Amino acid sequence: MQPNPAPARPLPADNVTNGLYGQDILSVKQFTPAMLDYVFRVADEMNTLVERFGSADLLQGKIMANLFYEPSTRTSSSFMAAMQRLGGQVIPINGVTFSSVSKGESLADTVRTLECYADVIVLRHPEAGSVAEAAHWASKPVISAGDGVGEHPTQALLDAYTIRRELGQLEGLTVGMVGDLRFGRTVHSLTRLLLDRNVKFRFVSPRLLRMPEEIRDEVSQAGGEFTEHEDVAEVIGEVDVLYVTRVQKERFTDLTEYEKVNGAYTITPELLQEAKEEMVVMHPLPRVGEITYEVDEDPRAAYFRQMQNGVYIRMALLAAVLGKA
Ligand code: ASP
Repeated sequence: MQPNPAPARPLPADNVTNGLYGQDILSVKQFTPAMLDYVFRVADEMNTLVERFGSADLLQGKIMANLFYEPSTRTSSSFMAAMQRLGGQVIPINGVTFSSVSKGESLADTVRTLECYADVIVLRHPEAGSVAEAAHWASKPVISAGDGVGEHPTQALLDAYTIRRELGQLEGLTVGMVGDLRFGRTVHSLTRLLLDRNVKFRFVSPRLLRMPEEIRDEVSQAGGEFTEHEDVAEVIGEVDVLYVTRVQKERFTDLTEYEKVNGAYTITPELLQEAKEEMVVMHPLPRVGEITYEVDEDPRAAYFRQMQNGVYIRMALLAAVLGKA
């Protein structure tokens, strides 16, 4: 029994934010196609807003706690930028070694503390399932910024948004995912988000880093098609999206295993000569050698635009969960 269960959330009955008001964002599975369209539409508006005015006062008076138990550059700073561009304030807690967590405070107590000060909590944690646990204890919305090898839902939303902006649609594409499909949470979330879009998945990885069985099963159960490869050259000519990932060194308990698979793939201009003219190369970043700098000059390299889109998606999500869209 929990000593002090969190009070019930407001019912997601609003039709202004498509049911997102007051909700946690823990998994892409909670997004219906209508919700996704809604978030993408608001993200387009946020893009226009930022380009024309820089900022707005939509979330003035609201406070976001940004609690990161793992390193982050893009996710952390884009959530902060999103909140601040909408006129809100941020409590940034990036170096948890300087907070009470380093004194042994439980996650439950930390989130129940932060919700006394903030209206929404953004949380990254190294253990899969921990963000859901935090959300269980909190009465304010908790947004996952990545939970270990589990999910990274806001990254998947910005990835799908980028694909739609770059290629005009999500339906019926051939999507190649390359690299660390075992530990890479971004590919887990993106695969799940694209399950009902008639996508052909091409999973390219060393055997040690295959897409987890659970997710392969989800693709099959959804009637989707996937094939597995060890050589990126086998798929480069057919993919509309080449989604490249870093080998997640921090997830290996045995670094000699990491050394065996690190550097397995490098995307170069020569390799991209074999790719379609209309396709995109994406990466959640950081890259540590998977894509050479020469590829940045290729108009198909979308990873910097992808990163920019993250701010618009996170602005849309913050406004929605705070009921202000
Ligand atoms: N930034 C992404 C993540 O947090 C990808 C990565 O770290 O490789 O999952």
